[in-house]
Amino acid sequence: MQIKSNVEYKALEHEIAVVQQGIRALEDEEIAAMERMDELQRVLQEHGRDFQVEEQQVLQDLKTLDARAANIAGEIEQGRGAREVEAAAVAPDWRARYERVFERAGDYALVGVDKNCCGGCHMQLPPSVVHDARKGLSITLCNYCGRMLYASG
Ligand SMILES: [Zn+2]
Repeated sequence: MQIKSNVEYKALEHEIAVVQQGIRALEDEEIAAMERMDELQRVLQEHGRDFQVEEQQVLQDLKTLDARAANIAGEIEQGRGAREVEAAAVAPDWRARYERVFERAGDYALVGVDKNCCGGCHMQLPPSVVHDARKGLSITLCNYCGRMLYASG
């Protein structure tokens, strides 16, 4: 390449300076990007460690909950067994009535009389019904909800 004049030399020198400036700017950007990448990798590792700690805690919690669920399932089975033993001692016709009332009421079949009101639906009971429930000679039903009533005294 031949440089014909001082003017051309100056122009070329200027062009080289501009390109070198551009190279420096790109190098600065590259350094900044590498620093940013290092920072992001550090943050990523930190979060990765946090995630592993959290993951271990959640897995431990799940094991605890699984064990608790298994215990509860066992207790439910025991309760069903105990209920069956108790229910076997009840006369079949009374048990059948109990089961029917229980199914219809959805919560309790046998409720107490509280201040002359049904313990299930809380309606005021007629005095004769309260009297029959207190005597306890036969099954007394609530006139409103049909639950079986018991009263002490
Ligand atoms: Zn009732």
